[in-house]
Amino acid sequence: MGRLLQLLSRASASNSWWPGCPEFALPDVVPDPPLKVLLVVAHPDDESECAATLYRITHELGGVVDQVIVTNGAGGQNFSTPALDYYGLSRNEGIAKLLPSLRRREVMGAGRIIGIRHHYFLGQEDAGFTLDPGEGLRSWDLPRLRHKLRNLLHSEQYDLVLTLLPAQDTHGHHQTVAVLALEAAAAMPLASRPAVAGVRAGSPANGTVPVFSELTGFPATRTTSGAPVWSFDRRTPLKHNAALNHSIIVHWVIAEHKSQGMFQMEYGRHTHEYFLQFATGSERWDALWQKFAELGPVTRQLATAEAA
Ligand SMILES: [Zn+2]
Repeated sequence: MGRLLQLLSRASASNSWWPGCPEFALPDVVPDPPLKVLLVVAHPDDESECAATLYRITHELGGVVDQVIVTNGAGGQNFSTPALDYYGLSRNEGIAKLLPSLRRREVMGAGRIIGIRHHYFLGQEDAGFTLDPGEGLRSWDLPRLRHKLRNLLHSEQYDLVLTLLPAQDTHGHHQTVAVLALEAAAAMPLASRPAVAGVRAGSPANGTVPVFSELTGFPATRTTSGAPVWSFDRRTPLKHNAALNHSIIVHWVIAEHKSQGMFQMEYGRHTHEYFLQFATGSERWDALWQKFAELGPVTRQLATAEAA
């Protein structure tokens, strides 16, 4: 079958099935990717939290990753001073008004590194840091967001939806976005529903392995256990050169976000990307686990390992 696809695509590329024969167009033959993932995040830099895993999916497993960015990132100016010189802006002029367009450019650059197929910019207000998940629920265009997310899930039939882990100590926008993504997934029939997981980077060495059961007031965010179901070690060697590892990809991605100074201070702090499974229900988890086993040294952990 693989050989047939190769022949067909070669013939299609040359627009001729057989030398000397009249040319006719063959339909493009595009096999389904082995893994289709939608990352739904609040801000243009949140993708860094799982950049190594996403890179491995797109570059080493042949998978597809799309990214939804809910806000315009206008609130991220607190630590943007170093970017003034980089972007040739004066101190008086400031960076605030330009942040949405600059950050859009930055996340597109990060997406080129990770291998993001499509970016969807939903342009919602970003009034800056908050711990309140209700802020987004009050200020964003919820009917439009819900419509967009449900349409995407329905039309693309993703295997997996990733959000940042909606822990109480993280940005309220991350919490709101996770709630909206879970809502959209839960609206689908169980058989076609994607699995949904929350991601957070951490390190066993500094005690930052995430623990999370549910965001208070939002039962849709309940996880199957309080602990990660799997993790990816960023120090896993890259496929074509064992002397190099996936931390390089994460550093490249972080470096794209010149306007986010504090974010740069996280450099090298996290060695692992941890994934917690939401309990929304999906018939795809077992098949997904098989696919992730192909990613290599990903660690299946704790409760799930015990239940298996
Ligand atoms: Zn964020």
